[in-house]
Amino acid sequence: MRLLIAEDDATLAGQLRARLAGAGYAVDVAADGIDAAHLGSTEPYDAVILDLGLPRKAGLVVLREWRAAGNTVPVLILTARDGWSERVAGLQAGADDYLGKPFHVEELLARVQALLRRAAPLQATELRAGDWRLDEARQCLIGADGCEQPLTGTEFRLLRYFMRHPDEVLSKTRLSEHVYDYDAERDSNVIEVYVRRLRALLGAGCIETRRGQGYAFVGRS
Ligand code: CA
Repeated sequence: MRLLIAEDDATLAGQLRARLAGAGYAVDVAADGIDAAHLGSTEPYDAVILDLGLPRKAGLVVLREWRAAGNTVPVLILTARDGWSERVAGLQAGADDYLGKPFHVEELLARVQALLRRAAPLQATELRAGDWRLDEARQCLIGADGCEQPLTGTEFRLLRYFMRHPDEVLSKTRLSEHVYDYDAERDSNVIEVYVRRLRALLGAGCIETRRGQGYAFVGRS
């Protein structure tokens, strides 16, 4: 899952990035509205955290442009605490949720997780593969007998993306776009290595190879 934070307060943006990256998301930061508009139109984000008070191009304008162009990425807007008219304008422009500043980072994290769940409504909140359950909070797998299998950051991000898109054919390019942030060295061949590791953990049948197309996670195994 890959997120964009559009926030010009560098301290706040840094805090959010660290917390969300720690929760297993790939995170990009845009410090002004022009950058945000560009990244949001060209990179496949799973959700965007959009400050409305951005320099160079207002967050509301950015959001209206995305929606006018058919970009349906889930957007959570950050507004001034007393800015009820801003919130109304934001929701009318197509925001999915809002949070008034200042806020607790834990609340933002919970709201982002809720947005992502709503964006994939067919997916139960519990992510499973065979006898394993993915513990998103602790970023590990839990077996039927309660045993724990730790995952590396990349293994976790890749497996969660597979689990949220069961039975879909996912190309290596799409997988790497959702697992790595903009600055990461993106080599789609590395995905093969991680798929092999996940198969070794979960059983070879859990991820099928579709020749020339990519991989499919078998949701009902
Ligand atoms: Ca601002």
